[in-house]
Amino acid sequence: MTVSERVLIAGAGPVGLVAAANLVRHGVPVTVLEGGVDLSTESRASTFHPPTLDMLADLDVVEPLIAQGLIAPTFQYRNRRDGLIAKFDFGDIADQTRHPFRLQCEQSKLTRIICDKLRGNPNFEIAFASPVHAVTQNSNSVTVTVERDGKSETHDYRWLIGADGARSDVRRSLGIAFDGFTWPDRYLVVSTPFDFYSVIPHLDPVSYLADPVRWHFLLQIPKLWRVMFRIAAEESDELALSPEFAQTLMAQVVPGIERYEIAHTTLYRVHQRVAGAFRSGRAFLIGDAAHVNNPLGGMGMNGGIHDAINLTERLAQVWYGEKPDAELDRFDLQRRLVTKEHVERQSIQNKHNLEADDNEFRDLLRQTAADPALTREYLVKVSMIGSLRRAEQLG
Ligand SMILES: Cc1cc2nc3c(=O)[nH]c(=O)nc-3n(C[C@H](O)[C@H](O)[C@H](O)COP(=O)(O)OP(=O)(O)OC[C@H]3O[C@@H](n4cnc5c(N)ncnc54)[C@H](O)[C@@H]3O)c2cc1C
Repeated sequence: MTVSERVLIAGAGPVGLVAAANLVRHGVPVTVLEGGVDLSTESRASTFHPPTLDMLADLDVVEPLIAQGLIAPTFQYRNRRDGLIAKFDFGDIADQTRHPFRLQCEQSKLTRIICDKLRGNPNFEIAFASPVHAVTQNSNSVTVTVERDGKSETHDYRWLIGADGARSDVRRSLGIAFDGFTWPDRYLVVSTPFDFYSVIPHLDPVSYLADPVRWHFLLQIPKLWRVMFRIAAEESDELALSPEFAQTLMAQVVPGIERYEIAHTTLYRVHQRVAGAFRSGRAFLIGDAAHVNNPLGGMGMNGGIHDAINLTERLAQVWYGEKPDAELDRFDLQRRLVTKEHVERQSIQNKHNLEADDNEFRDLLRQTAADPALTREYLVKVSMIGSLRRAEQLG
């Protein structure tokens, strides 16, 4: 069989399409095979961190994304005893990023913007309803089995990028472990058009409320607020998804407000897992296929986009013969270590902090917010600039 002189990407989520866009930018031809019949419309990630926006600007897609999103330069922490504990402003690290703010915008807008931009470019091909099932490889090429119109087809490519999400078939087929754990509790996201600014003084577009029993956070996106609650292990899915239960939770957000207009609710289970390898010969894993974490800190999709850029910058150099194949091992080394050291550790710490709500966490936040050097250090960490610097240091 003839080997296609294109890079194959399995999965047209935000991470797979960023990988495609960066390869096309470097003139490398790509084919994207997506299992779904269209781009997903699921309401999932909605936070883009500053360095991710810098990367998207290099792909020439940040302006339309900003136009459809909401700029959030500040975020805050509260608790029920003390009210506002600390507030942070990404303007304090404006010398370290071209985008000193979080952008609140659904990931489904990014995938459409990228697809619209790439469509018509001869280096970009995309096929829907084409799930990749099995992967084998030799030293020269990767063979994938694709299900199309009820039939199995096999195709050979030079390289394969598995960006096919948390249940990755590419990962399974390569026999790569996905070790970690699943939290016993789940998260419920309730979306409402209610105007929280009118009832919560000094509110920022992102506001975390620490509480040992029921923490929550408020996150503003265009036209809606998303309120995320922890659902305890003993509360059933059926209960958590009942409209009355959502109203009971929402009634705890602002004393005195009992009923809300609810646009939609989403309940989901959360895992902390990292793949045993991000590279296996001519195949790679990026995004949720490589790692999953809880959403506190908004690092899942952002970390995946950082994987995509790290990998495709190197793959383009290898494609043109400018760097040896071993260059691609640096992607595995850097991104896997940074995922474990930063994304997994920090998202677990963020969850514990919100649940503990002890004086130690409160005092640490206040001390950090009061000291300009500590504030900058903290913002570099939460914006994920720190994890990208750490990756570079790994060589
Ligand atoms: C409620 C919620 C809120 C979140 N909030 C944030 C946030 O604010 N910030 C953040 O950074 N992250 C957040 N996340 C995590 C974020 O949504 C994921 O990290 C992100 O979607 C990962 O992107 P991806 O492209 O790797 O995978 P996905 O988005 O899962 O995309 C994978 C794609 O592959 C396709 N596919 C699957 N199997 C195959 C196959 N065999 N062959 C071909 N295609 C296949 C799927 O149809 C899909 O289109 C949140 C998640 C949830 C659930």
